[in-house]
Amino acid sequence: MCWLRKNENVVDHGRGRSKVNGQFEMVGTMQNPDWGLTNALGILASDHELSRTTYRGQLARLKCHKKFAHPGLERDRLFRARYCHVGEYGSNCVACDQNELVQRPPRAEDDKNKLVFHRGRIANGNSVIQDGELRDQISARCHGALCVEVESAGVDVNRRCLVIRGISDYADSHKKDVWRFHAAGNAAEFTRELLRRIQPGVVKNMEGTTES
Ligand SMILES: [Zn+2]
Repeated sequence: MCWLRKNENVVDHGRGRSKVNGQFEMVGTMQNPDWGLTNALGILASDHELSRTTYRGQLARLKCHKKFAHPGLERDRLFRARYCHVGEYGSNCVACDQNELVQRPPRAEDDKNKLVFHRGRIANGNSVIQDGELRDQISARCHGALCVEVESAGVDVNRRCLVIRGISDYADSHKKDVWRFHAAGNAAEFTRELLRRIQPGVVKNMEGTTES
């Protein structure tokens, strides 16, 4: 069993404190985002519900650039955590057993034009995870972390920033790079929408934005 201090959004999944009775306390690695960012995030979430965003138009614009285009629904495959990739790294799972795919509700062609975002905890660490079972263990240990990543480990812990990630793989051995640019484009588009909801005066007052 492990526990986290309340509201820790980005945690280092490799660090923590061993407690009595086998408990393990994860350690938050980054301060929570500035109020100006979380407030804008709340507005964006509400606007998203009410279809008041410009995602569709912007994603269509991104699609014009081949490398940012959606790679195709048929290439979005989630295998059972225990099932390991067959073949070379990055090969298109042609030799993998399709019976090991996790059964999920089918996605419609129009879903390619939609942006879906999730808010929650991020687990960071020093190494890229390519193991479905380890991924699930980390998620459980970090109380339901939604993704694992490495880049935010390099961010100054004193900065009250918001980490935004485009999801490009399932952190398992079937990982391939084909989704990277598409995911990066989506993350950039989300960031753009977020920034549009922050007034310049709010930015001015954010911690770390004034020179000492
Ligand atoms: Zn595979």
